[in-house]
Amino acid sequence: MIKFALAGNPNCGKTTLFNALTGSTAHVGNWPGVTVDKREGVYKKLDEPVQIVDLPGIYSLSPYTPEEVISRNFIIDEKPDCVINIVDATNLERNLYLTTQLMEIDVPLVVALNMIDAVKKSGDKLDARTLEKALGVPVVEISALKNEGIDELMQRAAAAATQPRTGSTVLARSSIAHVIDDVKIALRGKGVENPLFHAVKLTEGDELEVSEHPDEMRMVNEFKEQHKDDVFGGDFEALVADERYKYISANFSGALVRSAKREKSALTKSDKADRVLTNRWAAIPLFVVILFAVFHLTFGEDLLYLNAIFGFAYDVETGNAYLDAFVAVFFNSAGISTPGAILFNLTDFLMNTCLGGWIAEGMAAAGAAGWAQGLVNDGIWGGVAGVMSFVPQVLVLFLFLSILEDSGYMARVAFILDRIFRRFGVSGRAFIPMIMGFGCSVPAVVNTRTLSDDKERIMTTRVIPFFTCGAKAPILAAICGALASAYTGVNAELLVFGLYLFGMVMAIVMLLFMRQTSMRGEVPPFIMELPAYHVPQFRSLMIHLWDKLKHYVKKACTIIVASSIVIWFMQSFAWDFTLVEDINDSILADIGHFVTWICTPMGFGLQLGTYGWVFVVAAVTGLIAKENVVSTFFVLAAGLGFAGAEQTESGIDEVLFLMQTTGITWQGLIAFCVFNMLTVPCFAAAAVVKGETPKGRFKFTVAFWMLTSFVTATCLYLMFTWVWTVAIVAAVVALVVLFFVLRNRGVIRLGRKKNNTPAKE
Ligand code: GDP
Ligand code: MG
Repeated sequence: MIKFALAGNPNCGKTTLFNALTGSTAHVGNWPGVTVDKREGVYKKLDEPVQIVDLPGIYSLSPYTPEEVISRNFIIDEKPDCVINIVDATNLERNLYLTTQLMEIDVPLVVALNMIDAVKKSGDKLDARTLEKALGVPVVEISALKNEGIDELMQRAAAAATQPRTGSTVLARSSIAHVIDDVKIALRGKGVENPLFHAVKLTEGDELEVSEHPDEMRMVNEFKEQHKDDVFGGDFEALVADERYKYISANFSGALVRSAKREKSALTKSDKADRVLTNRWAAIPLFVVILFAVFHLTFGEDLLYLNAIFGFAYDVETGNAYLDAFVAVFFNSAGISTPGAILFNLTDFLMNTCLGGWIAEGMAAAGAAGWAQGLVNDGIWGGVAGVMSFVPQVLVLFLFLSILEDSGYMARVAFILDRIFRRFGVSGRAFIPMIMGFGCSVPAVVNTRTLSDDKERIMTTRVIPFFTCGAKAPILAAICGALASAYTGVNAELLVFGLYLFGMVMAIVMLLFMRQTSMRGEVPPFIMELPAYHVPQFRSLMIHLWDKLKHYVKKACTIIVASSIVIWFMQSFAWDFTLVEDINDSILADIGHFVTWICTPMGFGLQLGTYGWVFVVAAVTGLIAKENVVSTFFVLAAGLGFAGAEQTESGIDEVLFLMQTTGITWQGLIAFCVFNMLTVPCFAAAAVVKGETPKGRFKFTVAFWMLTSFVTATCLYLMFTWVWTVAIVAAVVALVVLFFVLRNRGVIRLGRKKNNTPAKE
């Protein structure tokens, strides 16, 4: 199969084009660095199918970050039949910088002038013909978003792919043309592929090349020696870049005619919006307000606090239980439901009140055996429905976060936060994978490839799980909901938001801690281009949500069903495989007892007496997948005799019941939430972290998660339960801080003095 590669700057629309060509649903986001791995698909509208490869964005072929290496290696080593260079037409000059480098490779090349819709809208005029003449390769105007010009692009690319192309360079008339030519001939003599490309990179002093072609590097160095007093002073890298830009502005800027209207109003709409949104003082408060609004609309029960202010809510009573339950989905004693609450209530109504109830009635009516009823109602349906009823609400959260992301706002937040994050030891760039962690840790960890500094990458992957992911949201929602029902004056929504914030604060605290201990070093500089704001695309938002939904359903049908059945089995049977009367005689209780003592300091261990194993088991199943925690609650509550299957409120009632049965305190429940938020995220995320961490470092990461979650949950439990312990914890923290301050001032010195630390005398 012939193979086309999509290459271009970050955020120029490669993935949008990839999706349009292949019908895929890859993630498109309005910030640089969304695609961090290559991705393949097939285009079928030509005579023969074409394999399309979407590559991470690159500004140049001299890579700095791991994800840029992927792109360069693919183009050089895998020899696609044609490279489609996507160029953001609204940002022509900068994008063409990469084009001038791609031209130097011996590969058929076609330039796709993307975002032509945006160019036309702004009133500018762009002439593809002029550009084509200047570049010497086909140029096609397209709009990946509006699906315009795409078939023409593919036809021209297919035509180009039939003929071999020899690289050409815009440096042919520069002062270093000679040495490039000489090196090229030498490389070609040795049979090196793409001699021109390698010759130019060698001249630039590209690290990867210098080690590979030492002989030719000597030629370059000799030339440098001879000309070190010339105009270019020996910095060939800067010289090459300068020559490229000069060539671009001399030849290609003629292709673009700016509209008179735009020349005058120097400030675009984006600039105006940024005056407010990235204002020095307003930016951070605005971000917190926006984030809170998102959480309110997702987890709140009283829309805009209308009920709290006007107090009009009441419970509908028509006498028909189903009708009442249905009306309560939208309006109940808490007030008018927010979008998140409506969806949550609705799925809960459908999954538990209707379907779950019917299944239970049906099984009973059919006279199924007791154990079979238990297996289906409690083991399978209980666990799966428990998790699935939270999914729509979690999707609402994703939707809001995707809107913020696709509009271009999140990229601004990275900039706003850079100032603060820098003090904590990472650059603002690290914020992007962290905020992705609110969705799922797996893609978030992969996204850390956009970070160029190794220490920054490791630190970021470690704290990503502290950004509560979609699978942990149900744990918080169920427990906080139960606490709000059990205690008057507790607001579930504020409690959930508070826990989310606590996770973020812990991330910052641990970043600071790592920078002071195992990860000392400089914070790398932060350079990222800000994309223009735009209205989020409905289609791409829906694709994103659809992907998430599929992911959940798949998980629910596999891991969660399996774990629920196993848990149900272990809690129903004793070691001799007879059904148990008392759950405390079950296999599960027996195994649980082994680890119960460890959890005692966190408030959900031995102090719960015979039921000490209940929360321990939930936490352990959560290590496999965090959805398991809530599904385990469901299965266990049923096993402990909770008879509320028909009127249950997804998890909340189950947790309430578990509170009564086991006697766990609210302090213990909060510690339980925090432990789950900070511990080993899940098997999937742990595996990805392992793959992305340098060899031998992963075990420290696991230890880091274990210790952080255990110590933090213990401290919180102690401080909430016995207020006087606050003094001890505060004293210990103060001592640690004092130690670091003194060490940084040079008052305390530990260990051997390293040779490379310059003496300060
Ligand atoms: P990538 O980083 O190069 O893969 O770029 P993406 O495909 O993720 O797109 C970046 C942003 O540009 C997204 O917000 C897209 O909606 C937007 N975009 C992509 N193609 C077009 C286009 O043809 N016209 C306009 N106006 N926007 C586009
Ligand atoms: Mg992309």
